[in-house]
Amino acid sequence: NPGCSMGLREYKRKRHFNRTPEPAGQKSPKEGRPFLIQKHAASHLHYDFRLELDGVLKSWAVPKGPSLDPLDKRLAMQVEDHPVEYGSFEGIIPKGEYGGGTVMLWDRGTWEPVGDPRQGLAKGKLVFKLHGEKLHGEWTLVKTFSKDKRGNTWLLIKHKDAEVRKGDNAQFLERNATSVASGRTMDEIAANSDKVWKSN
Ligand code: MN
Repeated sequence: NPGCSMGLREYKRKRHFNRTPEPAGQKSPKEGRPFLIQKHAASHLHYDFRLELDGVLKSWAVPKGPSLDPLDKRLAMQVEDHPVEYGSFEGIIPKGEYGGGTVMLWDRGTWEPVGDPRQGLAKGKLVFKLHGEKLHGEWTLVKTFSKDKRGNTWLLIKHKDAEVRKGDNAQFLERNATSVASGRTMDEIAANSDKVWKSN
């Protein structure tokens, strides 16, 4: 069950660190609570939503990306915890490797839990504030229990506050389609081989 605190075992099991430029996860955890979103053009485009807690990045894959409209409840599939260093990764995962494709650092900043985040994760309702470059205000991740035997289906929902923008969020995502780390588009990242792991 990806919701359990399994550490990084599942993350490491899926990857060959001699063949992918992603970090293996050996550094000690940093201070503070980093939050970030990586836009990931793998077999299906999605946004990887990551919140640092207890030295790992709790992670959800959001196929449609975040919406600033509280009525747009975004499907968020919880995936394995990732190492904190993964949060600075932008580049290309080689084809044929796990998650092969282009990764953009789409948003980053800090997050602030509302209430006890460990209890929230265990109970399936995590309320928090985001202080990102693109996303702000209060949000909820809430677990859905019906028909989901694996228990990794959540919804990412914007709370009603000053940061709400109603309507289709396609325009919001389109207006905010470049990297917070490099200013590049997905195509520009994909065209640049500086972060592709190469064998010597
Ligand atoms: Mn991904």
